[in-house]
This record gives sequence, C-alpha cells and structure tokens, in this order.
Amino acid sequence: MKVAFIGLGVMGYPMAGHLQKAGYDVCVYNRTAAKAEQWQKEFGGTMANTPALAAKGCEIVFCCVGNDDDVRQVTLGDEGALAGMAEHSILVDHTTASAELARELDKIAKSQHKFFLDAPVSGGQAGAENGVLTVMVGGEADVFEKVKPVMAAYAKFSQLMGPVGSGQLAKMVNQICIAGVVQGLAEAFNFAERAGLDADALVATISKGAAGSWQMENRYKTMFAGEYNFGFAVDWMRKDLAIAFKEAEKNGAELPMTKMVDGFYQEIQENGGNRWDTSSLISRFKK
Ligand code: NAP
Repeated sequence: MKVAFIGLGVMGYPMAGHLQKAGYDVCVYNRTAAKAEQWQKEFGGTMANTPALAAKGCEIVFCCVGNDDDVRQVTLGDEGALAGMAEHSILVDHTTASAELARELDKIAKSQHKFFLDAPVSGGQAGAENGVLTVMVGGEADVFEKVKPVMAAYAKFSQLMGPVGSGQLAKMVNQICIAGVVQGLAEAFNFAERAGLDADALVATISKGAAGSWQMENRYKTMFAGEYNFGFAVDWMRKDLAIAFKEAEKNGAELPMTKMVDGFYQEIQENGGNRWDTSSLISRFKK
C-alpha cells in the first residue's frame, strides 16, 4: 500500500519510519527538505517537494505538524495534501489540534469524496520511537477500520472515540489530566525532598499504590535531579491547554486547576523553559 507522511518532526520522523519498516511504500514531505533527505537515507522510501505531490496515488495520507494553522497549510490550497489525493483516499491528522479544525477538514474532504480522521497521539517521543503510541480517533467506523491496521506500525493501541473531532476532544481530556497529575507530583516531590526522604525508596513504594502513575514512574528521577531538557515541551503543552480552554468555553466545563497550572507553565516560559518537559513544574520550587 502506498501512503504519505507529512511532517517529520520529533513525532512524525519515527512514525513514518515505522510505516516504511512495516512494508508500506512511504512518500514523505517535510517543510525543511534536509530532514526528508535524512529520513530517506535512513529508511528508504521516497520524498516529494509539496504535500500534494507526496499525497499523489496514496490510499492514506498521514500528517503530524504543529497547530491548526500548520495543518491548514499542509492540507489545503494548490500544494496541500488534499489537492493531490484521489477520491476515496483518507487523510489522517495526528497533530494535536482543535476539534473545530477536524470538523472543517472533514467537511472539505467529504465535498471532494475523500475521508478524514482526526487522530492525535499520546506517548511522546519515546512512544513514537518505540512504535507504542496511543491514538485517539474521531471519524467514521469503516474509515477507522481501514486505517487501524496501518497505524499499528507505530501504535500499540488505537480507539475510535466517536464522530469527527472526538479524537481531539479525548486528547484535551488527556492533557487536562497530565496538567493536574504533574503539578501534584511537583508538590509531592518537593515536599519529599524537604522531608529528607529517599526518592528511589519512596517511588518504589508509593507507585505501587493508589498514587502511582506513568508520570510518577517515568519522571521522578529527572524531577528530583532538576533535569528538564527533554520530553514534551512546555510550549506544546500551553498550545494544547489553550485548545482545551477554548472548547471548555463552549461546553461549560470548569477548569480551575488546569488554568492555575497553565499560569505556572507561563512562568516557566518567561524564565526560558519553553522547550523544557512538562515535568519542569517542579523547577518553580527549586529556586
Ligand atoms: P516538531 O518536532 O516541532 O515537528 C513539527 C513538524 O511539523 C516539523 O516537521 C515541521 O517542519 C512541521 N511543520 C510545522 N509547521 C509547519 C507548517 N506551517 N508547514 C509545514 N510544516 C510544518 O513537533 P512534534 O513534537 O513532532 O509534534 C507534532 C505534533 O504532535 C504537535 O501537534 C504536538 O502537539 C503533537 N504531539 C507531540 C508530542 C511530543 O512528545 N513531542 C506528543 C504528543 C503529541 P520543519 O521541520 O520544517 O520545522
């Protein structure tokens, strides 16, 4: 099967690589061509100079760029992916974006007799590199069933959440959870340090009980050590939380704690931590 992958960032680069390694015939596009050349050297496959050219003749076109506007830039217009896609082919957007954008693209795709799925991912850089991402999907069931076995090249789990936009809504919930969990850990680990507890013994014990979480197990070492130069960037998190706040205005959900944590992330940005991992919330206590 011929597929395209648009956007070879931290996430897209390894995801596209897994597709090629799984035997799909992958054509990639990246705005900065050097990255596409590097990808081709590493994995084989082909590269194109525009998203439309990459999408030509492909049954499925995947995309993973930055935000709503970036997705519009690579999917719409004469050089956008949709322009190159044949009727009945499927556009799958792995970008974390708004549910509104998903509905907009779905409408455009449908008017051209093409299909669209919003499919944001969770699992971070390591999840993408190890091919064990979780995918939250919005769209039609029969379209999802066609794409699911292909996404298995880089995903350990994918789930149809409901109609188009539902994948993005699920991702918003995911990010709201993370904000609260990480702030809780930041406060707890700062307390533990001041109380003179041994970090390894502490986490080995409490992670097995009701307080355990992915963030606790995977981030405690670096949080205690004050290392944040890796992982899921604060800039990305604030982009994601802004999307959730906008949606909450529409559905009436209150997000008092998430708003507070967003303010803490803003402080971290102001102190130069834009690219730091979200676990850098603990840095506010280490001054
Ligand atoms: P990244 O490393 O910054 O890569 C972004 C990619 O999108 C690059 O290939 C970039 O091209 C391309 N791009 C951005 N704007 C573009 C535009 N206007 N036109 C064409 N190409 C454009 O980002 P990432 O970490 O892979 O994240 C991608 C998406 O996945 C984001 O929505 C993010 O929120 C989400 N996500 C990330 C993680 C994570 O841990 N990193 C986890 C889950 C979800 P250039 O190479 O030319 O800059």
